[in-house]
Amino acid sequence: MRISDLYVKDKTILSFEVYPPKDDDNFEKLNLLIEILSSLKSYNPAFVSMTFGAFGKHFDTFETHYNMISKIKSHLDYTLMPHFTCVGTSLSDVKKYFEKIKSLGVENILALRGDIPEGEDISNYEFQHAIDLVKLIKAEENFDIAVAGYPEGHIECDDYSLDMKYLKDKIQAGADVVITQMAFDNSYLLKFRDEVASWNLNAKVSAGIMPIKNYKQIFKMLSMARVTLPKKLQNDLDKFKDNNDDIRKVGIEFAINQCEELVANGFDGLHFYTLNNNSPVNQILDELKI
Ligand code: FAD
Repeated sequence: MRISDLYVKDKTILSFEVYPPKDDDNFEKLNLLIEILSSLKSYNPAFVSMTFGAFGKHFDTFETHYNMISKIKSHLDYTLMPHFTCVGTSLSDVKKYFEKIKSLGVENILALRGDIPEGEDISNYEFQHAIDLVKLIKAEENFDIAVAGYPEGHIECDDYSLDMKYLKDKIQAGADVVITQMAFDNSYLLKFRDEVASWNLNAKVSAGIMPIKNYKQIFKMLSMARVTLPKKLQNDLDKFKDNNDDIRKVGIEFAINQCEELVANGFDGLHFYTLNNNSPVNQILDELKI
């Protein structure tokens, strides 16, 4: 199925993000991933997305991603949306990869630039921004396209309006859906969603939901992104920082309230960053009942 057909008017759809086990021959991890995805099936997600390693991937590495998609497709009846990071990749490798995933019946792509290693000069690369990939897909392929959005602005861009202009350019170039970076303060998410809607380009927006389960892990992630934690959440996390069971409870309770508010405000979609762990997502969705 195509992701643009999966968003339903007056309903908040669900999607889940997983990452591929490092080694596609690792059957234990692969089986675990299949189990996780099977257990999430009961929540009726519209689609599942799979992350892609960043920067300078060569065709050998594409093979691993392709193999994982192929295995998931053969085990489970999910609409899949592979991520694809273009920076540092040649046009001919991008085209070869597209041929391979098309052969699996994949109809959707999350078109990304990817992070640039410090000090790397990308000025001579064929793909310098995600929009270059969106344009290529629109001109030569037939995938539905999602792109990344940043409710508080991308970390590299100090000018929020400019960052939003680049997002608008990606949508005008052909993106159907925007998936946001993890966000915890709904005021940013709602403002962002309303701004995208004001462009009247018919793009859907899914909010990136990160169930917090580990104090160190979340602050490491936050240090690499522009994301605000609401004061109460910050205080609760600090209070329980030495006990991950309590951190998980705080994270789950927070996410339930956050998602309830987004659903009540008619958000198009909730995109869960599962980090290949279904248990917090199960607990959140059991309470949320959407
Ligand atoms: P872009 O849209 O190209 O934007 C990158 C920066 O360039 C921004 O600061 C923007 O303001 C600026 N910019 C955009 N267009 C232009 C232009 N035309 N001229 C000048 N400046 C411009 N990373 C992975 O490695 N693998 C993944 O699987 C992955 N999945 C992700 C999923 C989601 C939902 C999100 C939100 C992010 C994901 N990322 C992933 C991280 C992403 O690759 C990084 O955030 C990366 O730094 C930016 O990617 P982008 O597609 O947003 O880039």
